[in-house]
Amino acid sequence: MPPLDAEDLKRYLEFYQDLGIKDLYRRNQGSGVGDRGPEAPVSLIPDARPQTPEKADGLLPILQDIGDCKRCRLHEGRTHIVFGVGNEHSPLVFVGEGPGADEDAQGIPFVGRAGQLLTQMIENTAKKEGILLKRDDVYICNVVKCRPPNNRTPEPDEMEICGQFLYRQLTTIHPKAICALGGTAARALTGHKEGVTKMRGKWFEWRGVPLMVTYHPSFLLRAYNVEAKREAWEDLKKILHFVYD
Ligand code: URA
Repeated sequence: MPPLDAEDLKRYLEFYQDLGIKDLYRRNQGSGVGDRGPEAPVSLIPDARPQTPEKADGLLPILQDIGDCKRCRLHEGRTHIVFGVGNEHSPLVFVGEGPGADEDAQGIPFVGRAGQLLTQMIENTAKKEGILLKRDDVYICNVVKCRPPNNRTPEPDEMEICGQFLYRQLTTIHPKAICALGGTAARALTGHKEGVTKMRGKWFEWRGVPLMVTYHPSFLLRAYNVEAKREAWEDLKKILHFVYD
């Protein structure tokens, strides 16, 4: 982020106040060398710690704070805010990139073709591995809650603004593991810059929560991705056994 003048800083702080966030932590800028090093990955999903503990109230206060959100340009083209779906006590959360046309129309994440594939992947892998698990048992959400125009990749500032809410969803649910679907979610959550083919199948961490990266189901829908499908299957097996064994 570029340096802010006093007026910008005031607006920035007011913006967080509007979100119900009273405590902000100053990230140590340092000299660019030393503690974390200049290349240390930094998650795009910023810390957003509300003053009151949220766990007891679940996810509802977060949805209420989102309200009729106009905090970034993505609100302009949306039909519905796509907050998240599933079991908010789930030990496993899937995080995608952002809603597509079907999700925007229904207000529910992963309901289009990619969503149907995700459902099959979760349920069929679990069944084959002897784990009793349905889509409704996990929690599914996205980095951004409004559909980007023409399904473009969300911009860093959009992910950072909306990331406040993802941060709060994840800290409230506090799952045993997170599965990042595709490179955008993986990079936003981990701060790493590699492509998904390098990151998939490996464990990372989001604020102390183990995070596995796998391919986005839209990528797997392309007919030539047979090998990728097998790899995604392996990734999912790993994460399901980690969470449910
Ligand atoms: N792709 C995503 O990343 N999220 C959705 O909800 C649907 C498609």
